[in-house]
Amino acid sequence: MTETTTANVSPDEIARFDKLAARWWDPDGESRPLHDLNPVRAAYVAARVDLPRAKVADVGCGGGLLSEALAREGAQVTGIDLGEKVIEVAKLHLFESELKVDYRVQSSAALAASEPSSFDAVCCMELIEHVPDPVALVRDLAGLLKPGARLFMSTLNRTPAAFGAAILGAEYVMRLLPRGTHHYAQFLKPSELGRLLRHAGLELEDVSGLAYNPLTRKASLSRITAVNYLLSARKPA
Ligand code: SAH
Repeated sequence: MTETTTANVSPDEIARFDKLAARWWDPDGESRPLHDLNPVRAAYVAARVDLPRAKVADVGCGGGLLSEALAREGAQVTGIDLGEKVIEVAKLHLFESELKVDYRVQSSAALAASEPSSFDAVCCMELIEHVPDPVALVRDLAGLLKPGARLFMSTLNRTPAAFGAAILGAEYVMRLLPRGTHHYAQFLKPSELGRLLRHAGLELEDVSGLAYNPLTRKASLSRITAVNYLLSARKPA
């Protein structure tokens, strides 16, 4: 059991994010792009889920930006991540926000095994490009959904534009993110992620681009999916 529940993780990746944990809620720190994108992601989910009545899992929740935004709308949120420090920071931030989120250091496989078909919505933002086995991750995410429930994911496309913006631009030119945060080869095209979702028994409903200007810090939904994109998929009822 432990074998299958902890296998899908790169310890280097966890260490990289744990190092940023203390500054996670600083809107001008390394999580700045996540802060700027968060209202758009939260609105996308809120438009498709009855949040006040929803049980939501936020997989790879980090310091809890999206978990808190959804909890603020009335959702009952479980946030999991394998980074112990990021989970500690997420828990501490609840004292400030006075919201309730059930944060745990837990893998997607372990949650899918202990609470199968239990969630009205599952969010997995900016995680799949950091795991060794994206197929296994998608299988876990699908397993968490109740019939008829929705999965929301965001990630980076594998295009020259994404390489330019997320790696060259953010890590080297603007130094928004530490170097080595992203690995181009692990980025997935929407068509590839769509196939993984289909193989996991889900129906893709929408793919939207996430436009982000790091200079003005403005983020919005867009038709252009070449850099960052957000999607919604549904488990058949
Ligand atoms: N979803 C959050 C954080 C994204 S950063 C948001 O968008 O705001 C990526 C997060 O994934 C980090 O918190 C990191 O600790 C976590 N992570 C990386 N690999 C993981 C894995 N294999 N399983 C679970 N979490 C992982």
